[in-house]
Amino acid sequence: DVRVRFAPSPTGFMHLGSLRTAFYNYLFAKSKSGRFVVRIEDTDQTRIVDGAIEKILETLQWAKIHPDEGPLIGGNFGPYIQSQRTDLYNKYVNELLKKGAAYKCFCTKLRLNLIRKDAMKHGEIPKYDNKCRHLSETEIQEKIAAKTPYVIRFKLNPKDHEPFTDLVFGHYDVNIADYEGDPVIMKSDGYPTYHFANVVDDHLMEITHVLRGQEWQVSTPKHLLMYKAFGWSPPQYGHLPLIMNSDGTKLSKRQGDIQISFYQDKGYAPDAVLKYLTLIGGGYTQTVDNSIEYDSLEDLVTKFSVQNMSSHSGHIDIEKLEQVNKVYLQRALNDDPDLITEQAMKVLRKHLQSKYQDRNSGDLLDKQHVTDILCWAMKDSRICKITDLTEPEWEFLWKTPSNSQIQELCEKSSVDICKILQDCYNVVCQLQEFQEYSLKKALSVLAKEKGINMKLFMHILRVSLSGLQAGPPVVEMMSILGKEASLRRLKHAEH
Ligand code: GLU
Repeated sequence: DVRVRFAPSPTGFMHLGSLRTAFYNYLFAKSKSGRFVVRIEDTDQTRIVDGAIEKILETLQWAKIHPDEGPLIGGNFGPYIQSQRTDLYNKYVNELLKKGAAYKCFCTKLRLNLIRKDAMKHGEIPKYDNKCRHLSETEIQEKIAAKTPYVIRFKLNPKDHEPFTDLVFGHYDVNIADYEGDPVIMKSDGYPTYHFANVVDDHLMEITHVLRGQEWQVSTPKHLLMYKAFGWSPPQYGHLPLIMNSDGTKLSKRQGDIQISFYQDKGYAPDAVLKYLTLIGGGYTQTVDNSIEYDSLEDLVTKFSVQNMSSHSGHIDIEKLEQVNKVYLQRALNDDPDLITEQAMKVLRKHLQSKYQDRNSGDLLDKQHVTDILCWAMKDSRICKITDLTEPEWEFLWKTPSNSQIQELCEKSSVDICKILQDCYNVVCQLQEFQEYSLKKALSVLAKEKGINMKLFMHILRVSLSGLQAGPPVVEMMSILGKEASLRRLKHAEH
């Protein structure tokens, strides 16, 4: 049975790259009726970021990538946090020591630094010289008795090629011993290194396929050699191509806009972000690849195949994400307008309260009105995501503008703007039907009757209703604001 895992290190929060890895493992598992495991790799105690484990698990929950096994729900292969598995690593490191496949290394940091510096000076790849491989048993015992700190290293046989077929990249053959000395598998603090814990756990957790970021591809031969030393059969490996910036430069995890929290804060829908990841991450046939059409999670699972993944790196394209989100928002609005309205009201309430420090302003929101606004705003692509409604250009939907601008206009203008507003108020007041077409008709009749320049007339109305110099057509603004609010604003502007 297929078993895959997502194995984040809590050294930071989720970003587009790690979410893609998690999601592709999930897709792979589900498309093969397999199991998706989450394992936290926290053996580098010096790099752990406070709260990262919780945040990573929360992000998975937000994205609805629910694990079948993991730290929160448990499972038969736990614990799923590596720092709780140190006994196991000790047991297996001892096995390698006994087999002669690993050894204790007492070299000091100073010595290792000198080796590194020396290599750099000669333009060589810095490599540990494997000195402690050759210590005699007496020397080892003496050092242990003297309480000299030590690490445990894995022996890389210089002739050991371990070529493999990468599920995405195809044939891969790098002789790791050409690039590094014997790698540390157990540190002096008693924690294993990533490489060792990763291998032991993938084996013990019966992982069948490892899908992980391309940055780990160079380490795979090393991992395969450890499997060989244990006499275990390794999982199949597939490395997921890098995701780059739109300009082709490498993404940095420190960049704000690759963190998932950035997309959460901006109000993108999780399923839209996932669909977007499939567009930049590959794994679909050509037609799906380029289409921003709606795909449910089930659709994405059905259509996924590792064979279709290309080894070319993906490129971030925020515009595409915007388009995808719009498609998903429209779909959600059709399927469950109540749900989307509730979400929008929550966002708006928070926005209004924080912006105006007015604890009650959000309570004025009327549900039907918010649904109407959403439908209207989705039409003609005025918004791509709910949070767009909190942008300054839509502020007029929630707040009566100050009348300072209309006053300014009054000062400057030679026509009697107050009079125009009064006339307009009366006409609108008497309208039986408050629809765009009836408004349009009534307003143009009025303009003609009074001899008001239509352009100026609309400008006056726009400024009175919204405080904006540009925006949607005036009659649309009135119709979305509703009769009552429109009249209130016309009156307000007069004063
Ligand atoms: N802990 C590693 C990371 O955070 C996982 C690499 C792997 O999947 O083997 O990237």
